[in-house]
Amino acid sequence: MPNVSERPRTYKKPALEEVDPITNYIPASVRDKFDERQMARFKKLRKFVEFECLPLDTVYLHESTLFEHENDLESCPVIMSLRKKLEGYQLHKMFVPMDQRGYDSGFNDKWEVVNMVEFAMIAYLVGRSVIASYLFNLDDLIGLGTIQVLLRNGCSNHDLWVQLVDELVANSIKSCIMVSEKDVAGSDTLNIQTTCTINGDEMNEDSTMVLNGTKWFIKDAMESEIWLVLCVTEPDEGNIYRRHTLCLINRNDVPPNSTKIEPIQINEGIGKFYQVQFKSCTVPLTIIGERGEGYQILQTKSSITRLFQCLKLCGMGQESLRLSNKRAGERKVFGSKLQKSETFKFDLAHWTIKIETCKLLCFNAAIKCDFEGVKAAREEIGMVKAVTPKEISSLVDWSIQLHGCYGLCSTQTPLSHMWQVSRSLRINDTPDESLFSQLGRLEISNYNKFQKTYDQELISLAGK
Ligand SMILES: Cc1cc2nc3c(=O)[nH]c(=O)nc-3n(C[C@H](O)[C@H](O)[C@H](O)COP(=O)(O)OP(=O)(O)OC[C@H]3O[C@@H](n4cnc5c(N)ncnc54)[C@H](O)[C@@H]3O)c2cc1C
Repeated sequence: MPNVSERPRTYKKPALEEVDPITNYIPASVRDKFDERQMARFKKLRKFVEFECLPLDTVYLHESTLFEHENDLESCPVIMSLRKKLEGYQLHKMFVPMDQRGYDSGFNDKWEVVNMVEFAMIAYLVGRSVIASYLFNLDDLIGLGTIQVLLRNGCSNHDLWVQLVDELVANSIKSCIMVSEKDVAGSDTLNIQTTCTINGDEMNEDSTMVLNGTKWFIKDAMESEIWLVLCVTEPDEGNIYRRHTLCLINRNDVPPNSTKIEPIQINEGIGKFYQVQFKSCTVPLTIIGERGEGYQILQTKSSITRLFQCLKLCGMGQESLRLSNKRAGERKVFGSKLQKSETFKFDLAHWTIKIETCKLLCFNAAIKCDFEGVKAAREEIGMVKAVTPKEISSLVDWSIQLHGCYGLCSTQTPLSHMWQVSRSLRINDTPDESLFSQLGRLEISNYNKFQKTYDQELISLAGK
């Protein structure tokens, strides 16, 4: 047996400057999914986020409070300067994720369709910075959702569809999605009561739809030109999953006095919310997809947007961990640096593992979407949705604790903003409990199917 010092060295540890930091961000199991062109894009993106955006996050959070509404954010000095820089980095085209349906739009001079795993990596890198999330539209769960809904399902008015997709991608119009209602539990979308009576068919330009009911907690209803409203259109349909249709309303078409929009008073910084009452509101007939498909369309939309929001949260968690490490290296308590305490080391290891776990779950779901489609990946996406916001909001909570009052109250760190974003995702769209319950149901049905196959296999083996 040769002496240790005489054994051939098979691995030479590279010097720090030889390692591109991007490699540290991409899980080893995913690296072979990216080609050179994609890697080059990630490198540019990482540089843009780390050198241009992260140092400006707190400036942005301060400036954005001075503006009345999100629509005005484009005129924040810090946003204007970064939009110019984005062109220099050649990152100004918007990225639109798509699974193996491989959508070819013809608008590609303004935006680029990327596969799900590439967008997953983009969302993770961008998620580290608050300002980058805004610049790459990852803050706008609804905008991203509307684009997905339109691209995947088309709409009964093709010309309007082309115009809307174009304008939404260019960020020149806003949209809102109206599902929740005050009187019924939003956790179960099948409960909704707003009705839409359809007069005529989609081929006829003069056909109309008449809406009645009240939607609640609708983000940006007043500020949006486009409303997507989930309504009951087929009340007599036996299959409860086929009773709803997603109706598209252009706000300019809404007759005066047929809707009442009232703001809902909420804490500053979350956005603007409204209650919208439809009173025999008669508008041109425009629906997304087919009649009765509304529930399924929204489920798929929610899977896609939530997956990428979760990747954004993983990036956010990574940044919160970096800030905590920095703080613990600087702050002395009772005579020694926080970094030296055993509790800190334990917590740091704990949260590092949690982020990596969430990240791997997310990438696994994105890869399955690419190969088998979003529907086939619903179990994997279900896991991501249930676990990531919970873990990342607890991680940010820990970071705030570690920073003391500096983290909790001051706007000199983005931590309290991060907490609000991650915490609200545990209620928004579908609350945690409902997600766990859905996943549990899916697991029971999988168990029953697998058990049946297993029993059949056993019988046929016994017969041989
Ligand atoms: C920031 C934010 C933005 C929003 N934006 C919009 C928007 O733009 N458009 C829109 O339509 N809506 C929007 N909503 C509303 C959101 O969709 C609903 O809040 C959500 O669907 C939950 O519905 P709910 O509030 O009626 O809660 P409920 O359905 O009443 O649920 C209340 C609680 O019950 C518990 N619960 C639910 N299901 C189960 C279960 N299966 N088992 C055990 N416990 C359970 C959970 O703790 C849950 O939090 C937004 C909400 C937030 C917080």
